[in-house]
Amino acid sequence: MPNRNLTTDELVKANALLAEIRSRMEALAGGDNALLFAYRRKIQKELSYDERGKPMLPRTLKARKMGEQKGICPRCLKPLPEKYAVLDRLDGMGGYTSENTRLIHPDCDTAIQAERKYR
Ligand SMILES: [Zn+2]
Repeated sequence: MPNRNLTTDELVKANALLAEIRSRMEALAGGDNALLFAYRRKIQKELSYDERGKPMLPRTLKARKMGEQKGICPRCLKPLPEKYAVLDRLDGMGGYTSENTRLIHPDCDTAIQAERKYR
């Protein structure tokens, strides 16, 4: 499933929210650029967790998927490497759940990403 995009109306609302967040962070930082940087980092990190889950989760999930898939890449059916296997989300809007992911080779991931671009 392709990621949902915003309509023109929704984009206007998103930009207004972003301007509001920026203005609130600037007010909180009170002219301290290092503090503004820290606030920005914190908000960015938390929002990215909302979308992708906390960083510990993918590592735990990788070990679990490796077991479930018996160490085999579902795309090319060859054995997966111990390290550097990639968690592929079936639905880009979905989270890093067991149902929504599979473990694949980095090369298979690159090929899949290219295929998805042309769909
Ligand atoms: Zn593969």
